[in-house]
Amino acid sequence: MKKREFIKYGGLLAGALMTGTAPVLANEIEKRSGQIKRKKALLKLKFTPYELQLKHVFTIASNSRTTTPVVLTEIEYDGIKGHGEASMPPYLGESHETVLKFLSQVNLGQFSDPFLMEDILEYVDNIMPGNHAAKASVDIALHDVVGKILGKPCFRLWGLDPMKTPDTSFTIGIDTPEVVKQKVLEAAPYNVLKVKLGAGDDRIMIDTIRSVTDKPLCVDANQGWKDKNYALEMAHWLREKNVMFIEQPMPKSQIGDIAWLTQNSPLPVIADEAVQTADDLLVLKGVYSGVNIKLMKCGGMNAAIKMAYLAKAMNMKIMIGCMTETSCAVSAAAQLSPLANWADLDGNLLINNDCYEGMLIKNGKVSLNEKPGIGIIEKEKIF
Ligand SMILES: [Mg+2]
Repeated sequence: MKKREFIKYGGLLAGALMTGTAPVLANEIEKRSGQIKRKKALLKLKFTPYELQLKHVFTIASNSRTTTPVVLTEIEYDGIKGHGEASMPPYLGESHETVLKFLSQVNLGQFSDPFLMEDILEYVDNIMPGNHAAKASVDIALHDVVGKILGKPCFRLWGLDPMKTPDTSFTIGIDTPEVVKQKVLEAAPYNVLKVKLGAGDDRIMIDTIRSVTDKPLCVDANQGWKDKNYALEMAHWLREKNVMFIEQPMPKSQIGDIAWLTQNSPLPVIADEAVQTADDLLVLKGVYSGVNIKLMKCGGMNAAIKMAYLAKAMNMKIMIGCMTETSCAVSAAAQLSPLANWADLDGNLLINNDCYEGMLIKNGKVSLNEKPGIGIIEKEKIF
């Protein structure tokens, strides 16, 4: 209220208090000053389980599967809705049950200012340790709400250049040579292929792919190699095959062997299973050349961007990855991709029932749109 209006309405209020008609006049004051007071909006969280159907049986060094459980979330604030998602591949220990249990304990109704993201996410983080995918589902929806209120995509709010997004790799799981060849042909729109090794004959897998394409490859052994000498021999052999880097070659517990490999390898060695959060990253300086940051491992976009800048400060390469998940979580991760050396954002392309539309791959590169928040629209109504 301007000073003059305050004096005018202040005088009215004083008179009203004397005559006992204050409530009526207080309303009148609000109306006349053009500031109808609205009830304070509060944040509201909704969530529901969902099952992703994979297009192909997906085999990595540790397991095979045809579905992935996810939980979809929505945060509503003053009529604006933000979308979020938790994806729970079995090896990370979260499930529908644990995520639903965690989210039922989140009371966002105590917050009336969605811009206090640090406070809100700190509260969510302190509810229970772990539960990173569940926490990411709140974090992503909150970023979407805030971006929508401001009318800007998250990458704009972070000051990132959409022209600097990297190519994304398309993942080829472990399979028979016929199926591998078929998958390579399906991956025609992509400039980089990510090859899963560590559970079969690695050389046959690479030679099969090289028989049909000369695109650059990256390799993910998912901790499948146990011997450092074999890992180094493979690193030299893979370099000759135009492979750019090796992700998680050995079990994360073999820190000494991995540090030795990183020192001697002609290819960068990237941590995935070994690093969930910034705390894990801090102690691995010199052990790996880079880190694969995923929202479902670290707890969301807020934690991921902090990790990316930490990795930069540690002079490590950055890869932005994902799980099998819908375009919701993939588009959220894509917002950070201008910070990354490499992206592996194909999780939404591996499923049949994506209920959102968002980030696209154009000419093999992550393409960010200018829609506010995480840049998605609903293909079907979830809530
Ligand atoms: Mg990996």
